[in-house]
Amino acid sequence: MSRPEIQSITVLGATGSVGTSTLDVISRHDHFRVYALSAHSNTALLLSQCLQFEPQYAVLTDEDAAESLRLQLRKAGSQTEVQWGAEALSRIASDADVDVVMAAIVGAAGLLPALAAAQSGKKVLLANKESLVMAGELFMQAAVASGAVILPIDSEHNAIFQCLPAPAQSARGNLAGQGVRKVLLTASGGPFLHTPVEQLHEVTPAQACKHPNWDMGRKISVDSASMMNKGLEFIEACYLFDLAPEAVEVVIHPQSIVHSMVEYADGSVLAQLGSPDMRVPIAHALAWPERIASGADFLSLVTSPDLQFLAPDLSRFPCLQLGMDAARQGGYAPACLNAANEIAVAAFLAGQIRFTDIPRVISGTLAQITCRQPVSIAMIQQLDAEARAVACDIAAGF
Ligand code: NAD
Ligand code: MG
Repeated sequence: MSRPEIQSITVLGATGSVGTSTLDVISRHDHFRVYALSAHSNTALLLSQCLQFEPQYAVLTDEDAAESLRLQLRKAGSQTEVQWGAEALSRIASDADVDVVMAAIVGAAGLLPALAAAQSGKKVLLANKESLVMAGELFMQAAVASGAVILPIDSEHNAIFQCLPAPAQSARGNLAGQGVRKVLLTASGGPFLHTPVEQLHEVTPAQACKHPNWDMGRKISVDSASMMNKGLEFIEACYLFDLAPEAVEVVIHPQSIVHSMVEYADGSVLAQLGSPDMRVPIAHALAWPERIASGADFLSLVTSPDLQFLAPDLSRFPCLQLGMDAARQGGYAPACLNAANEIAVAAFLAGQIRFTDIPRVISGTLAQITCRQPVSIAMIQQLDAEARAVACDIAAGF
């Protein structure tokens, strides 16, 4: 095999769960050069990452944190230049010197830098599912216009991508024409799959964040417990692969070994299996269309637990229903759903509302926002702000 070319990479959200896994994979290979790293507020971890990977730029959200990091880096003799703020994030995602952008900021804050990468024709490793939920149509259009390659990092979407016919991996659209009948999106069911429904109103943030198979950030962990994560992923799948909602089916698979499947017209079902370790989809996307080592354990099917598949119980998981409804409704609904969910999850994590209030905040918010078609990013941001304000009011009333 010929020696791979050096790839210059920006990791947005470098200090998070996906960000640190990305740097772990990068550190195992010598053909990646880290161009820039970003973090919200964890300056201690960003400092040690800068010293290890020697990026040209490090970006933080606020000025004071940036000044503190700058002083510490200078003291350590580092050449890394520290910047701060939203514009700096978009800059390190779109600079001409960057080949690959890992979009691993959590929540709506990740939209603009991920979009900047898509608009400037980068290879975009997309972990930030909220970008697609909020602005899927505009995001995918931007990628087509610029020639950007969008590679899904969400393990289910990465699995679907791997199971698609090769032409569909390179150009979006017309999956039916290539024999794809539907995609089967697997879901673990999270920590409350078997908890008696009447006990769900008293579960704590610590219980909700204790996922049986995956070690993830707190927001996505709560989303997994409510199954809003699968609702968001349902919407993500529709935009990413240009699928009608009817062509996406959610299947509960508690062992998280089959990461999703694609069913073909002839009755064949292709699945991607692997250890539940995000380094697998990250390594896949970093190397695509080649393969590189990820550091994850290899799967031992003979010693793994029996694989089960169940239909989701939508009365136990109303957030999944809300997500699927928003996908069918389209237009303003996914962006409002996402905003209301972020507010509800933050309120739950702060002990202000109960776990079972999360879907109530979201459905209450959707009912109060006037239906309209978002045709620009500015309009999506306006909808996002409006939905957040309504959701905050509703959450404060519980
Ligand atoms: P995390 O909370 O562990 O990390 C989030 C990162 O984003 C951190 O580096 C943080 O500093 C940064 N960040 C947070 N708020 C920010 C803000 N306002 N502005 C700028 N930066 C900010 O999250 P995670 O679990 O790594 O998830 C990241 C994204 O990947 C999410 O969109 C999540 O849905 C998606 N994802 C994660 C996993 C997983 O296994 N963790 C799996 C699939 C998809
Ligand atoms: Mg996922």
